[in-house]
Amino acid sequence: MYYFRNICQAIRTVAAGLRVTLPYHFARTVVVQYPEVEPTVQGRYRGFHAYQIERCIGCEACAKACPVGCIHVGKSGPRKMDKSRDLAVGGALTEYQIDYNTCLFCGLCTEVCPTACLRMGSLHDSSCYRRQDLVVDFVRLAKEGRRTLLPIWLAKANLPGWAARVRDYWRNLDRDRREWMARADDPRYCGELAQAAVPPPAAPPAASRPQEGAA
Ligand code: SF4
Ligand code: SF4
Repeated sequence: MYYFRNICQAIRTVAAGLRVTLPYHFARTVVVQYPEVEPTVQGRYRGFHAYQIERCIGCEACAKACPVGCIHVGKSGPRKMDKSRDLAVGGALTEYQIDYNTCLFCGLCTEVCPTACLRMGSLHDSSCYRRQDLVVDFVRLAKEGRRTLLPIWLAKANLPGWAARVRDYWRNLDRDRREWMARADDPRYCGELAQAAVPPPAAPPAASRPQEGAA
């Protein structure tokens, strides 16, 4: 009795699975001829990070939040935001590395960043020849005026139109902040920026301050 019941159950289970998978055997195969054809990337896709070095205060909150410990931050001294220029000043940022050999693209590092200078970008391709090339030094990228890493094939002369657009977007992004980006690892320059900082607005006299708890 149990023997036949087990056979019936096995047939039912296989049929239930096939009901889902079988239609795919007859569906049209979709192959994107990448990189000739632009891949579709969803709006909330988490690709390689985009990083604004000149707004990073080096607090290491991202490194602490990272579940695999693949972010390394180094600085020569404390940094703080100068809100009037939307710029971090003080010590220099000597190191900001992400090891993409172990990164999970979970985005936790971006959620804790107090200045929102780190976000997940939309690029998914980091073709390279050696594993150590996946350890990305964002300080070096900033010196080249770049916010994110671009795959090496994007340096080719004859690119498909969409790829040339993507390359030009990232190459031209924030051109007016290039000097700050390039010199964010220079302690002297960052110190001078701090001294030239516009002082914060003076606190209003006690009488004109809103009462705590007032609506
Ligand atoms: S995306 Fe996740 S795994 Fe990758 S660096 Fe950020 S916190 Fe770490
Ligand atoms: S959390 Fe943001 S501000 Fe702090 S070190 Fe990381 S990227 Fe920089």
